[in-house]
Amino acid sequence: MTVLGIDFGGSGIKGALVDEKTGEMIAERFRLETPDGAKPEDVAHVIRQVAEHFEWEGRIGVGLPAVVLHGVVHTAANIDPSWIGMNSEELFSQITGCPTFVVNDADAAGVAEMTYGVGRDQSKGMVLFLTLGTGIGSAIFMDGKLVPNTELGHLEVNGKDAERRASDATRKRKNLSWVDWASRLQEVLAHLEALLWPDLIILGGGVSKESENFLQFIKLRAPVIPAKLLNQAGIIGAAIYAAQQEK
Ligand code: BGC
Repeated sequence: MTVLGIDFGGSGIKGALVDEKTGEMIAERFRLETPDGAKPEDVAHVIRQVAEHFEWEGRIGVGLPAVVLHGVVHTAANIDPSWIGMNSEELFSQITGCPTFVVNDADAAGVAEMTYGVGRDQSKGMVLFLTLGTGIGSAIFMDGKLVPNTELGHLEVNGKDAERRASDATRKRKNLSWVDWASRLQEVLAHLEALLWPDLIILGGGVSKESENFLQFIKLRAPVIPAKLLNQAGIIGAAIYAAQQEK
């Protein structure tokens, strides 16, 4: 099945047609700016523009940076609070005219990485996948199966929200050196490891392509590896999610 996968991020809304059987993008990715304030209706209209760009009338999958239960948004750490309580699937389906399915962005990226990326052969044990971007998103896989909507980026570490301390946005905002940022990340990862004991940790998000700058400073029991699909993971994962839904 071909699905239009969309990744709604802090700065851009990106989409591509994905062949969900191979995980490959069929046409060039298309990106529009995230509208100021990222309010629901405005975002929905940008998603419609992305669908129009591809002259798309089929199924759409959207990765959204929040807890999403059966289409309803429950949190808003980095998005407008008016999202809370909103049935995003109804909103997007109505505005695009296409059947749309919505999933947490980190769950989407994690699913893509486990299906077509570095987690492909990890069908046994526990994998902790983290995306380091505007926030810190998380996805846990047990024997390859996702435990959805974990919000480990909001774990309190030394009295602070983990993502405030160690997201890639914090690195950039505070102009932290790689070694300083890595020591914050080490603190968060060590805390997570002590609570969850994963077999493998995969780090995703744009910064994972610069892993040679910081991975050497991370010392944990579990192996830590960078994701492979980089900024395509969210799009591919959202498409996989939508393809798997009934209707
Ligand atoms: C949100 C998560 C999201 C992550 C990455 C966090 O602030 O609470 O739902 O997955 O950012 O975008």
